Amino acid sequence: MAEPNESVCPYCGVGCGIRYDADRESAVGWKGPVNQKGELCPKGAAAWDVVDHEERLTTPLVRVNGTLVEATWEEAFDRIEREFDRIVTDHGPDSVFFFTSASCTNEENYLLQKTARKLGTNNVDSCARLCHASTVAAMRNRFGAGAMTNSLEDLMEADVFLVTGANPAEQHPVIFRSYVLPALKSGAKLIHVDPRENATTKAADIHLPVKPGFDIPVLNAMAAVIVEEGLVDEAFVAERTTGFDGLRAYLSELDVDEEAERAGVDPEDLRAAARAYGEAGRAAIFTGMGMSQHHCGTDNVHTLINLPLLTGNVGKAGTGVNPLRGQNNVQGTGDVGGLPNALPGYRDVTDADARAAAAEVWGFEPPETPGLTEVEATHRFGDEVRAAYVFGEDPAMTEPNTNYVRAQFEKLDFCVVHDIFPTETSNYADVILPGSVWAEKSGTVTNTDRQVIRMRQNVAPPGNARTDLDILREFAARVAGLESPETPEGVFDELCAVAPIYAGMSYEGIGTGSQRWPFPEGATEGTTFLHADRFENGSKTASLRVIEHVDPADPVEDDELVLTTGRVLQHFNSGALSRRSGVLMRMRGEDVLQIHPDDAAARGIEDGARVRIENERGTVTVAAEVTPAIRRGTVFTTFHYADPLVNKLTGNALDPTAKIPEYKHSAVRVTVE
Ligand code: SF4
Repeated sequence: MAEPNESVCPYCGVGCGIRYDADRESAVGWKGPVNQKGELCPKGAAAWDVVDHEERLTTPLVRVNGTLVEATWEEAFDRIEREFDRIVTDHGPDSVFFFTSASCTNEENYLLQKTARKLGTNNVDSCARLCHASTVAAMRNRFGAGAMTNSLEDLMEADVFLVTGANPAEQHPVIFRSYVLPALKSGAKLIHVDPRENATTKAADIHLPVKPGFDIPVLNAMAAVIVEEGLVDEAFVAERTTGFDGLRAYLSELDVDEEAERAGVDPEDLRAAARAYGEAGRAAIFTGMGMSQHHCGTDNVHTLINLPLLTGNVGKAGTGVNPLRGQNNVQGTGDVGGLPNALPGYRDVTDADARAAAAEVWGFEPPETPGLTEVEATHRFGDEVRAAYVFGEDPAMTEPNTNYVRAQFEKLDFCVVHDIFPTETSNYADVILPGSVWAEKSGTVTNTDRQVIRMRQNVAPPGNARTDLDILREFAARVAGLESPETPEGVFDELCAVAPIYAGMSYEGIGTGSQRWPFPEGATEGTTFLHADRFENGSKTASLRVIEHVDPADPVEDDELVLTTGRVLQHFNSGALSRRSGVLMRMRGEDVLQIHPDDAAARGIEDGARVRIENERGTVTVAAEVTPAIRRGTVFTTFHYADPLVNKLTGNALDPTAKIPEYKHSAVRVTVE
């Protein structure tokens, strides 16, 4: 009998089960723990296109006299070992930075963060920094855990869904189709807070087309209506919260109409949304990057968290605050310690007990000083940061202010890119290591609702490419003298020994299903919804907070529009995978700029015309789509394409707590090309 080959989709954080079907020569869905009927969206169905793509990296490359030339693995690793040794000797371990990968397995990311710590630095971070770092910061601060409070299954019990800054109908399609739509068909209501109408809005009962950067006025005004109209769950507030008197006093002074006007939404629609949420027996929040990717992203989510705490919508089925995670293992990359401030299981590097517990398993103590976050590190290339190991990410495309970031990459003494395709970042690499794609490796990933799911190898990597775990094992041994378990299962067992939230899990227990954290030693099943009696930090109560609006970082001049960016159904993040799928490119081959008819008319822009988008950071050109789906004063495009590379226009402003960039609000001029 053939070995089982169930794996997991390499795209979004839903975690749908896919596998290679030799008869069809394509990826097909299996009945996974999330896609229980085997359903897939177009990206999952096209996932085989990237496996056998002609542009796959199949042999190591080493830069010689400015040119990348083919090399043996021995030559590539000799160069890496020599350069890392030189740079760490001359400049210390904090002169190197490690990009972990939200699209690679728990075991791979665990090994890479451990390598960094053995070398003596906490300079390790991933693109999770760029999507939900602010959500995690606020939720950890208030609830003690930054992940989805609830499970997809129990969220089907919601009477109301409040979807803020997310478009799950396109970005998490299987969640929307298989969990949200059935609840809507049974009578649940959907409130959508988003600057534009999209596929999610079509299913919404109320749409609040908020101005980018003005979420706090909307959420504070909703809280004010809830308090004013007696929709507070008094018993819950008394038993499970602190700070109600202060928040009530602040909200009583708020003018709901003024706040709605400031945010650009209809006051009556806002009141209707607050009533629907406040009167629901069970109200659930889905939140996305429209909320998190602001220089006030942490405060946005703090304001959002007031709503469930005021109305008792946390700690039970069908409720909570549920960040929709982007990549297929963005949750796990943080879980396993791919963070500059946390060890596996989110134990702070500054906590001596946590370091001692890690040392018991590892045989060495990790450093105690928190490392640099991803964008901070890039901004210090050429100064204190001299070398980078870039694993499965493309920061020269995905970080904001790309022209600046690319100049920063030029300043590195040494750069290793470990990936499956040439990327924008590999233009700056001194060594490129060819890795493995979803069908070529085994391991685990952790999806958006905390389910750990197994991937199994379907085929061998092409040419001289190796499995990622194999590459990372050798890298760890060469640069840090670290011996690692030989199999993914061995690494997972070690992870479970270090991370308390995974302690009771096992490969055998996961099987072709999943185990959901927290899954402590001795547990027989994971926890569906968190915070039932106590919050994850052990406290009975969480605080209600007064949060004030702050203006976006970019001032907007009279002739300027606000550029906001996002995703579409057919493509994913940098597009490194989805733009290599013939099917997906036929579905959506090029980008457009959505612009409101009034803004287009004022600039003489006709539908389909080429337009120039520019600000002091850069210029891109793209075709215009003139549509009332986007609010006046705002334009929208995606970040999926290398041309137009929209991140040339996004800025350096960071959230002071989470260090997440302000992708969602950039002042731009739009003119006919
Ligand atoms: Fe893949 Fe996400 Fe689509 Fe599922 S919903 S098939 S995980 S991209």
